[in-house]
Amino acid sequence: MPYASRLANLKSEGAYAVMASAQALEAQGRQIIHLEIGQPDFETFPHIVEEGVRALKAGFTRYNPPPGIPELRKVIAAHAGDQRGMDINPDQVVIGPGAKPGLFFPTLALIEPGDEVIYPDPGFPTYPAMIEVAGGIPVPVPLREENDFSFDLSAFDDLLNDRTRLIILNSPANPTGGVIPRSDLEHIAQAALERQIWIISDEIYARLVYDGKSVPSIASLPGMADRTVIVDGFSKTYAMTGWRLGFAIMPVLLAQQVELLLTHSVGCTATFTQMAGLHALNASQELVDRMVAEYQQKRDRIIDGLNAIAGVHCQVPQGAFYVFPNVKSFNIPADRIAGRLLEEAGVAVLPGTAFGGNGEGYLRLCYATSNENIERSLEKMSAVLN
Ligand code: PMP
Repeated sequence: MPYASRLANLKSEGAYAVMASAQALEAQGRQIIHLEIGQPDFETFPHIVEEGVRALKAGFTRYNPPPGIPELRKVIAAHAGDQRGMDINPDQVVIGPGAKPGLFFPTLALIEPGDEVIYPDPGFPTYPAMIEVAGGIPVPVPLREENDFSFDLSAFDDLLNDRTRLIILNSPANPTGGVIPRSDLEHIAQAALERQIWIISDEIYARLVYDGKSVPSIASLPGMADRTVIVDGFSKTYAMTGWRLGFAIMPVLLAQQVELLLTHSVGCTATFTQMAGLHALNASQELVDRMVAEYQQKRDRIIDGLNAIAGVHCQVPQGAFYVFPNVKSFNIPADRIAGRLLEEAGVAVLPGTAFGGNGEGYLRLCYATSNENIERSLEKMSAVLN
């Protein structure tokens, strides 16, 4: 093959393939309701857009330091620390274009070829991709509906061995919306401390939690800040997916290595984007709180609607903006059900298998859309599934 072997197993994200099929139908004049993409269907909050425009006009158009503007690193350290009950030093904060660099570069910095990396299945497809590019061996741990899609801890214990170098966690999770309870985090932390394993904790949905709950971070457990990378960003909390702004928090020595990787890859993150992010954090959080309250109502509505369809069973997820209904009773592969929902109901959803083999028998729906779209999609899906 003409390309480097590290690319051999790379695949696109399933959401892009379904989006392309949906757009092909739209080009033929069909109306499609999009529940496949993991982003809000409304614009970034206006006060943040205004600050971005102001920053551009004010000349924030040049390079800035690779790990980010010092003032933004400081404010992120304070905010992220308050949210998680931790003391975070600005030198631990590395800003990047989106949360993805905060996943990818620490993985490159930590993994030697042949090292094993444990990651959730079903889970975000970037995890196995970045592990393979770094030369590591992806080791999926099943998430099970029976325990709210946290880790299957006995499978986890069985998979640990002397080559395990890194564990990837995602709570609240894409695609299940599941939250890993503190007791499970303690179990995982104990293994990490005993075996000197690093953790990358993807907390991009940490602000999208419902029923007044909060999500514990493994980094806040005793001894864990020294071996954990927290990944978070602005994409979901502030509806800023296209601005490309995220960050990772890690021990200072690792941050210096990641800074080198940023220097020689992206160089730095757009300066006016960071100014908009600084404003997002410093301004009132009222719009975020309101958005979270609205997501909770949408979640409850879509769960009720899905559970009213014969043969569909859907748990109530505690976070993120996804539901992950169980459709095993139809005895049809999830990608065929998703295909029929697109073609016959005009509703784009993802098969659980877009997130790994353990996603078979499930669909993923993103409910960050209008109430009208939720109602119409429920009607259309129930007509096809019934
Ligand atoms: N982690 C998870 C679990 C995600 O769902 C996403 C976005 N779909 C990301 C990371 C990437 O976020 P960003 O767009 O800020 O890079």
